[in-house]
Amino acid sequence: MLKVLIVEDSRSFAALVSKHIRQDLGFGVVVASSLAAAKGILEQGTDYLAALLDIDLPDAPNGECVDLAIAHKIPAIVFTGKFSESLRESFWNRHIVDYVLKDSMENVDYVVALLSRLAKNPQTKILLVDDSRSYRHAVKRLLTAHRYNVLEAGSGEEALEVLEQHPDTRMVLVDYNMPGMDGFALTREIRRNYGKDTLAIVGVSCESGARLSPRFIKSGANDYLHKPFLVEEFYTRITQNLEMLDHIALVRDMAERDYLTRVYNRRYFFSAGTQLHALLTRRGQPLTVAMLDVDHFKGVNDSLGHEAGDAVLRQMAQQLASRFRTSDIVARLGGEEFCVLASDIAADQAMLLFEDLRKVFETTPLHFGEDTVHYTVSIGLCCESGLPLEGMLRIADRMLYRSKSAGRNRVTLYRAGDDPAGLA
Ligand code: GH3
Ligand code: MG
Ligand code: MG
Repeated sequence: MLKVLIVEDSRSFAALVSKHIRQDLGFGVVVASSLAAAKGILEQGTDYLAALLDIDLPDAPNGECVDLAIAHKIPAIVFTGKFSESLRESFWNRHIVDYVLKDSMENVDYVVALLSRLAKNPQTKILLVDDSRSYRHAVKRLLTAHRYNVLEAGSGEEALEVLEQHPDTRMVLVDYNMPGMDGFALTREIRRNYGKDTLAIVGVSCESGARLSPRFIKSGANDYLHKPFLVEEFYTRITQNLEMLDHIALVRDMAERDYLTRVYNRRYFFSAGTQLHALLTRRGQPLTVAMLDVDHFKGVNDSLGHEAGDAVLRQMAQQLASRFRTSDIVARLGGEEFCVLASDIAADQAMLLFEDLRKVFETTPLHFGEDTVHYTVSIGLCCESGLPLEGMLRIADRMLYRSKSAGRNRVTLYRAGDDPAGLA
């Protein structure tokens, strides 16, 4: 469990902040009411996500506890009632994470959000591109103070290689003036493969004049920073741009996924499915379309209630999604009906795969409170190539219907010549 150290002489304030950290984040909290107490606590171990530090303690009136935290390599957040520009500057120079005033409840929320980000930042990759090693060193230090996972490149060419090795990079800080590929060219090159909504690019330069900023943005950057910058501005811009990506990802998730089961929804299924079908047709690779429907599902709702029915759908969707690759599409088309588009599986393999799944559903009941809910699923498959997607869906649906009328809990695969009515 992640832990936060609070060094604070006001018991009521420490209790308030601790409560929020425990409740909102589920992190552990250790409170010290003086510098001496903090020293004693750190002798027992220094494994803290961060320390929230009051810089005005009876035994340490000048921020000595900040030096203590930093000496133990604990990210330091100054949380204080005091405010002065010179104090602020002196703390930034000591590489604190942030400086927050104790003056309102919003600032407690701000600290909680900050701790939540600090916990996530080790998974957030930021690529730093600059030909100056000393500049990279200085900025890396700022980023590691916030626990980001920092990658480095000394040129545009090297940056593209690093990105290829780390396609999950969330942000690139791009210097304008570099020998070889300059910052604009690098930004345009990165944008060929990564959209603004998944990878943030922040242009950085010390060139005077305002003309670089619009040019960076027009080349595809999300934002621009002028060197030298204030440390506080640097952090707020980085955070703002990363938060924007998080918001976009959240909105996309809500638009594409089914709220109950978290698999894709009907709308996403048809738009992404059409693209996948076209791609596989071009490459001459097979596509499997599977329609699945829970048997006598109405009975589950009727006997155990709608919530038990919902839980069946969630469990079934989870089992279904866990069996396919991210390039395949698993979707809930509506009610208790699901569809899978799986690429590059031969018909016989598809039959085995779905037969296997059918058995998993049959033998894995849902445990719902005191009840054990057994359920089965009927499946229809179409693996015919050369048909439009709509035709394949119609055939898979007819095969599902056959599974139902043949007694349910079975898989039916369409074989060419099977159906003289010409379903496609
Ligand atoms: P069959 O074996 O022929 O498929 O029978 P069935 O009972 O599964 O099929 P039917 O189409 O008669 O009933 C489907 C039921 O699914 C009716 C509807 O109330 C229920 N249902 C649809 N969406 C949801 C949902 O989101 N949650 C729950 N709990 N039930 C749902
Ligand atoms: Mg059903
Ligand atoms: Mg149905």
